[in-house]
Amino acid sequence: MTAAAVPEVRDRPRTYAVRTFGCQMNEHDSERAAGILEAVGYRRATDPLDADLVLLNTCAVRENADERLYGTLGHLKGIKEARRDEGRDLTIVVGGCLAQKDGASVAERAPWVDVVYGTHNLGNLPDLLARADADHLPVVELLETLEVFPSALPAQRGVRHHAWVSISVGCDNTCSFCIVPALRGPERSRTVGEILAEVQGLVADDVIEVTLLGQNVNSYGRDLGGRALFAELLRTLGGVDGLRRVRFTSPHPRDFTPDVLEAMAETTNVMPHLHLPLQSGSDRVLRDMRRSYRRERYLDLVARTRELLPDASLTTDIIVGFPGETEEDFLATLDVVEQVRFDQAFTFQYSPRPGTDAATMVDRFVDPDEVAHRYRRLEERVRAHSLEAHERLVGRDVELLVEGPSRTDPARWSGRDPANHLVHLPAPDATTTFHPGDLVSATVRSAATGYAVADAAHAVERTRAGIAAESAAAAGAASPTARSAPSFVSPTLRRLPVVG
Ligand code: SF4
Repeated sequence: MTAAAVPEVRDRPRTYAVRTFGCQMNEHDSERAAGILEAVGYRRATDPLDADLVLLNTCAVRENADERLYGTLGHLKGIKEARRDEGRDLTIVVGGCLAQKDGASVAERAPWVDVVYGTHNLGNLPDLLARADADHLPVVELLETLEVFPSALPAQRGVRHHAWVSISVGCDNTCSFCIVPALRGPERSRTVGEILAEVQGLVADDVIEVTLLGQNVNSYGRDLGGRALFAELLRTLGGVDGLRRVRFTSPHPRDFTPDVLEAMAETTNVMPHLHLPLQSGSDRVLRDMRRSYRRERYLDLVARTRELLPDASLTTDIIVGFPGETEEDFLATLDVVEQVRFDQAFTFQYSPRPGTDAATMVDRFVDPDEVAHRYRRLEERVRAHSLEAHERLVGRDVELLVEGPSRTDPARWSGRDPANHLVHLPAPDATTTFHPGDLVSATVRSAATGYAVADAAHAVERTRAGIAAESAAAAGAASPTARSAPSFVSPTLRRLPVVG
């Protein structure tokens, strides 16, 4: 990364805001983008609307990604024009998956954009900004292969106590609905030593929880030495002093081997939560999706998980209305959902993503009204199971990693239990002091779909992250909330799982 000079605005440093679309991998990359901008002299804007530079880290996977991007760019165009009248500028940067997919057409459709970069060249951002500044023309740079692993770039974390750690990038699978392999390339893993060194550095910087990210964490390491190393990685991270919670996403049911479950069960800081994308419960649809497992394998995996990790929560992704899905196929999905009773499921109505094989199956597209009807039936079951899962917590003592106050109700704070359930509890008061990043114990009193509510904390373990958050609050910095981080990098809770 070249440290290009960043011109000051009047007598202050230029400020930035980052808006993240899509999954946790983008969250990770946004923290790197923020770190790069800070390394070359930018400062985080207190008010994103007043930032001198806005970076949109885009997603090509979620529905209506184009509309969301161009809608946001239209809004920014108005701000840029108003600024120009005031003698100020607004630099607009578009990066990430949709930028990689659409490339130069982003700058053609929105010529007021200054820089477009893709999924492989985040590290070049300072140079691209310098070029745009010097030439007063949009700069578009997209590379076919990764130059610098994003984890090697500086990061500016959204919260003190948690960090995203990318263990691999890209994907060797070819799921017919997914654009990720075309945009992120084949799977490339970092070595266990590199990841361990990064995690140790993060722990030294007050992090107590990491989330390991990969498109298919279970195949992690296969490109390094011919065999998957994920279980070994989990056990290695189990030995990091001060690292209290290890999470990961997303595993792929095909590659999930028993040694990973054993490593989870035997490594105390690996949290009992498995996000296991189902996508469909019909073997015929799974075959058309090119998902190389079948429902029986999936159900076996769930059974083994329940056996080895009885307190584990299970979450999933499900697509409804994939091309050619019949009522019978859908009932097969509902049947798996009934059997597993997920703690939470991210459900999607199929919509074609240009560039994917499934998008060409036009003659098999399912009637949108039928898709919507199936979706509602699925949602009704998923919500009922989520309520059940949270009701099972009632009466139990849970250890919560505190995330911060609720955005809508400052009298209520939120945290996550080891199984990643969202639990609200009364805000700290004069007798019970805690801050984001502290660990508290509380008894769950009631449940709702998607969350539980606990009594006031009856025990508090202060952590270095919590103490740092307290100092920042005393110095006047805004406390991160459970649903909005202090930066423009979106918070953990709202991020969708990595596609897997
Ligand atoms: S859905 Fe996941 S496993 Fe399948 S191609 Fe996309 S990223 Fe890879």
